[in-house]
Amino acid sequence: MLSSFVISSCTIPSFNLLLRATFPYRVRAFAISSRLRNPTLFLPPPFKPFFATSSSFSSSSSSSSLNPLNACGSRTEDDSLVILGIETSCDDTAAAIVRSDGEILSQVVSSQADLLSRYGGVAPKMAEEAHVQVIDQVVQQALDNANLAEVDLSAVAVTIGPGLSLCLRVGVQKARRIAGKFNLPIIGIHHMEAHALVSRLIDKELQFPFLALLISGGHNLLILAHDLGHYLQLGTTIDDAIGEAYDKTARWLGLDMGKGGGPALEELAREGDPESVKFSIPMKQHKDCNFSYAGLKTQVRMAIESRNVNTDNPISAADCQDRKSRADIAASFQRVAVLHLEERCQRAIGWALNIAPSIKHLVVSGGVASNLYVRSRLDHVVTMNGLQLVCPPPNLCTDNGVMVAWTGVEHFRMGRFDPPPPADEADDFVFDLRPRWPLGEEYAEGRSEARSLRRARIHPSLTSIIQAASHQ
Ligand code: ADP
Ligand code: MG
Repeated sequence: MLSSFVISSCTIPSFNLLLRATFPYRVRAFAISSRLRNPTLFLPPPFKPFFATSSSFSSSSSSSSLNPLNACGSRTEDDSLVILGIETSCDDTAAAIVRSDGEILSQVVSSQADLLSRYGGVAPKMAEEAHVQVIDQVVQQALDNANLAEVDLSAVAVTIGPGLSLCLRVGVQKARRIAGKFNLPIIGIHHMEAHALVSRLIDKELQFPFLALLISGGHNLLILAHDLGHYLQLGTTIDDAIGEAYDKTARWLGLDMGKGGGPALEELAREGDPESVKFSIPMKQHKDCNFSYAGLKTQVRMAIESRNVNTDNPISAADCQDRKSRADIAASFQRVAVLHLEERCQRAIGWALNIAPSIKHLVVSGGVASNLYVRSRLDHVVTMNGLQLVCPPPNLCTDNGVMVAWTGVEHFRMGRFDPPPPADEADDFVFDLRPRWPLGEEYAEGRSEARSLRRARIHPSLTSIIQAASHQ
């Protein structure tokens, strides 16, 4: 299913967050007129080099001032950069083109919802094949919808982790082919940072530091965003993420998974009594900001069995009584799943205000943040604490290319990117993929006693890489 909104890993040999590259190649930015708001006014853009080789990056390549915030000439507010973002970390193939003034020039998403609904989860090999089948078309459509060609781009941004290696590889390969052929810089993107930062695209007032709750099918993260590329992890899940619990519950209740389990469950829950099934809130005894949804899933399973819901029967074939039982379970599940978020956010706000008293916002993003019940409950928590909630629109909460392109804009402006790959890169080239890649270090005082947290960290955190680079 290919949808587009016109407004609407392998190894990069070194996604090394270059702070001061020399530029034997041309970095393009084009002066945008009104043509993209009014396509009929289109004229070929006048290209100009973004970094004049004599005065900016290349001229300031001494290692004495690598701090990206201070390095003279390594930062630009140029708002006419045009960046292609590619996202294939899990089950959505997405591409978008975003200009550095925040204008979304195009957005295309091809979802694998049909595969998910058939197989009940993401099967990496099948997901990879689905990405391979559509990636060229998705990127081409993003270019076409923006009335651009590859030569018009300033850079290519692509998700390099975390995610499924087989899937990440498809996007990275495509990005490198374009960047190699058209001599464009490339920016490796952290998927979860992109979920958080897209909120700065939609809310220009949103300044660092802020608190962010990132909730999706594979992640449950509470982070304190001190600055671009500088994150402190306050909490994560010790087992499943909330989106996984929504998807499983929806499947067990026989819902139509065609548009995803989460939306189907949200809809059915509106018919149910949220107090009817007494599920217990996870991790009540743990006074930290970590999450757990595996136990709630088990409780749901038991409730379904004890109410004799015939889960082989789709909801469309359920009689009135059966439908009511399912709706009650859905509503009760949702209430407790979200209460768990509320409790953790309440505590995280306290922690965050201690660490960074100037925070004013809680960003909530990731697929589950498109849920209206989630938004309204978290809005209540945030308001009670004198903060503001920032939620991207639903199509920017679920996986998308805009968030990748925009995060590319933010890092590119700071001079963090790699030079173009060779145009003739071999097909079996080993890319730098980061399937397990933390955003930041854990907040020491927030470590959970309930530690079944998966510790295997193949890569150092994004934050530590950026800090190491800026202290070089
Ligand atoms: P990923 O987990 O691959 O990063 P997304 O960020 O796109 O993917 O999030 C997908 C998850 O969000 C899925 O688990 C899906 O069920 C969930 N989701 C999407 N919309 C809703 C909704 N309205 N209510 C609850 N969950 C939702
Ligand atoms: Mg996601």
